[in-house]
Amino acid sequence: MNTPSDYIPTTLVEAIRHYADLDVANEFLAKLRWPGGVTCPECGGKEHSYITTRRTWACKACKKRFTVKVGSVMEDSPLGLDKWLVAMWLLADCKNGISSHEVSRHLGISQKSAWFLMHRIRLAMQQGTLEKLGGEIEFRAIPRDQATKEILGYLRLHPHKDSYDIAVALRLDFDLVYELCELLVSQNRLAPSDPSQVCQD
Ligand SMILES: [Zn+2]
Repeated sequence: MNTPSDYIPTTLVEAIRHYADLDVANEFLAKLRWPGGVTCPECGGKEHSYITTRRTWACKACKKRFTVKVGSVMEDSPLGLDKWLVAMWLLADCKNGISSHEVSRHLGISQKSAWFLMHRIRLAMQQGTLEKLGGEIEFRAIPRDQATKEILGYLRLHPHKDSYDIAVALRLDFDLVYELCELLVSQNRLAPSDPSQVCQD
């Protein structure tokens, strides 16, 4: 049986329109996160009531209330479920990578928010689950000239990586990497295609 939550959009325009319905988005994410049925992130309880107006479940065992975001990689994010789903759609669709610049443009959010989204979604993809399992990257604070050296060294070995990949691989702050890459391009020390903008097709 096809319900709206099983439908997978085929174009970006459709994805944006489809997931704009937050009930559809919520149902889709709940199925993705809990294929065996909604499960309380606090106690693992399977019996609950659903508060439609708040898109919130109330666990019958521990009495805690939770949304689809609680205990997942989407936790602590003020971004709506529609943005999360369109970002997931984009990352799944653009198999060879999409830059945070493009994600930010498509979703109408800041590049920093786009980075956060992409980071968490890629984490979920690597883990094979939306559950928050830890595994957050601890970024290193190093001087800018050392960071520049490391970025150049990394790009010699991996010339087609974007700023996001560089930041994760070197465990450096995303904004710093983006800024340094732009600087390197302006100084002609990097190939003209800004690695932060690369979406290889
Ligand atoms: Zn519970």
